[in-house]
Amino acid sequence: MAKMRAVQVSGPNKPLELVEREIPSPKRGSVRVKVQACGICHSDSFTKEGTFPGIQYPRVPGHEIAGVIDAVGEAVGNWKVGQRVGIGWHGGHCTICDSCRRGDFVTCSNPQIPGVTYDGGYAEYVIAPIEALAHVPDELSPVEVGPLMCAGITTFNALRNSGAVAGDTVAILGIGGLGHLAVQFAAKMGFRTIAIARGRDKGPLAQKLGAHHYIDSESAKVSEELQKLGGAKVILSTVTSNKAVSDVIDGLSIDGKLLVIGAFGEPVSISVLPLILKRRTIAGWPSGTSIDSEDTISFSALTGIRSMNETFPLEKAAEAYDRMMSGKARFRVVLVTGQ
Ligand SMILES: [Zn+2]
Ligand SMILES: [Zn+2]
Repeated sequence: MAKMRAVQVSGPNKPLELVEREIPSPKRGSVRVKVQACGICHSDSFTKEGTFPGIQYPRVPGHEIAGVIDAVGEAVGNWKVGQRVGIGWHGGHCTICDSCRRGDFVTCSNPQIPGVTYDGGYAEYVIAPIEALAHVPDELSPVEVGPLMCAGITTFNALRNSGAVAGDTVAILGIGGLGHLAVQFAAKMGFRTIAIARGRDKGPLAQKLGAHHYIDSESAKVSEELQKLGGAKVILSTVTSNKAVSDVIDGLSIDGKLLVIGAFGEPVSISVLPLILKRRTIAGWPSGTSIDSEDTISFSALTGIRSMNETFPLEKAAEAYDRMMSGKARFRVVLVTGQ
């Protein structure tokens, strides 16, 4: 049996360890992908720390996968060896729960997630069901594709389903790993784009990413600044601070929507009366399916949107993971596995 290198976690809070494993074979309805790159996402901590229910160990993390189909099982439709593909958080669905019966696969109650419910992209090969696969065009390198499979699709899909239309004012709270992509998508979608972050020094970055306005939350009251600009139809929150989220709500316009995609555990406090009087909404958004990933990748290739990445070789996954989780990496970290 041929062997491959993989980086696994043997149990909750155990270290990421480089191991040799047998190269797996694809079953019916699945393909084997030779991994070229895999982004590190904050949600990889679910596997590393064991905070997602029902994870079986050892487990290989990673759900921002870019690679090439290397072997196919039976009944894989038009998917062929040699095709470039991406695999994201939505790694398959059950087809039998009520959400699936309604065609709402993202909210499947028995979701398959690479790196969580099956082995993911911190490895030289990964097996995935065909419903997890997104086509990748030639214009994008594997390192460019990786982060688009979770950070990219989540921001792109949240914005395009937010209800905002071209010309509407859309504010992005935070310009880190998610936010720096969200600002680019919002500007290219034709929204009047406002970036919000801490510190005057991030202004030039916001402008470079395409923002039309920048609000420094350290030197101004964000909600007041947003109201001076007419109020935001949509505020997309990518931060993990409950205070920062509370502080922006009064910056919404009439019928404005606060859309939350940055996850954190602390509760957010809001004043209810302005919510009622101005018909405002607070909502969340999960990522999307493989065809949403494909749309994200195509839109990024078309408009020149790219994630800003630091790269590490697969064998330095532990170091790369620590860099991402410690917040030392400003944007995204990607493991490069092969070509
Ligand atoms: Zn289902
Ligand atoms: Zn993710």
